[in-house]
Amino acid sequence: MNMTTEQAINRILENQIPVKSDIEYLLSIEDKEDIAILFEAARVCRDQYCGKKVHLRGIVEFSNYCSQDCIYCGIRKSKDEVARYRLSFEEIIGAVQTIYDAGVKTVVLQSGEDPYYDTGMISKIIKEIKISFGLAITLSLGEREFIEYDVWRQNGADRYLLKHETANPKIYSALHRGQQLEQRLEHLGYLQQLGYQIGSGNIIGIPEQTLADIADDIILCTKYELDMASFSPFIPAAGTPLGDWEKANVLLTLKTMAAARLALKNTHIPATTALATLDARGREKGILCGANVVMPSFTPAAVKPKYEIYDNKRCITEDAAACMPCLKARIESCNVSIDEGFGHSLKLAPIC
Ligand code: SAH
Repeated sequence: MNMTTEQAINRILENQIPVKSDIEYLLSIEDKEDIAILFEAARVCRDQYCGKKVHLRGIVEFSNYCSQDCIYCGIRKSKDEVARYRLSFEEIIGAVQTIYDAGVKTVVLQSGEDPYYDTGMISKIIKEIKISFGLAITLSLGEREFIEYDVWRQNGADRYLLKHETANPKIYSALHRGQQLEQRLEHLGYLQQLGYQIGSGNIIGIPEQTLADIADDIILCTKYELDMASFSPFIPAAGTPLGDWEKANVLLTLKTMAAARLALKNTHIPATTALATLDARGREKGILCGANVVMPSFTPAAVKPKYEIYDNKRCITEDAAACMPCLKARIESCNVSIDEGFGHSLKLAPIC
């Protein structure tokens, strides 16, 4: 290919919507020096558009019941061996208290698609978090009724995380039992219209996925002008149809994150727990490739191991508060500081 790494980097930085072949090229580089140039450019881009800062988000995984059957996921509906749990209102608020006490200013409420928590229950949780703690709230509950998104936004939810998983419609339908990518994107678009800060993103290393597909994932993220985008490596979950599929390549994941940083500029990008699971220094490597968000789990230790969307998930036996000093030291070893603010979207006017 008649292209250099520098040329591809510069063109992506200059363009609002990147050229697909430039991203594909960066995903394909193997030369150590080229890779070092890419990672350095992603760090500089992060520092320029997001500051030398990392934002923390505390996740509460409050239910592992799920009505969906995504073939990669360890808590899919038809996986019988999963010990299912649901946290009560009091347990959820108790976990939020530990997030607040740790000085973390965003709570991410995540679960399988579990209609047991109806519109009113989620609203009650949102209101209590806002009144008692004043934290920023991200919902990550999967696809729900449009009217519910509306009510939760009115009750104070700030952000919604709904990954598109893959921008390839055929792969999407194969992973999600015939469901359509278009429908997922309609939900994402509606959430954006309602004024949510929206997060989406892909999984790297799923069957049939090519580098061109990953480039399309990044382009999709730029087109939606996402506030947050997550690129996480696939990790097999035993007892699922992809239980024997190979885990994702860490280097490809890092190249994807770095290319995404160049394309997305001031979009928040997390160094995911999945990356930290595949590589003992995954969090650090992610931050050194331009990530600016880390999302530690504050799910109560008693149920944390049951929210195993993939095998050997990192830090599931420890209590979140006990993990914080280690996590902070890891982050600060990457020449960035931990931001004390809410970590709202960098695409919005400042919110106090
Ligand atoms: N039910 C919610 C939350 C899903 S879990 C929803 O549908 O949005 C959060 C994310 O975990 C998913 O969006 C998916 O990208 C990721 N995930 C699930 N199984 C995975 C696996 N085996 N490897 C890597 N990531 C996985």
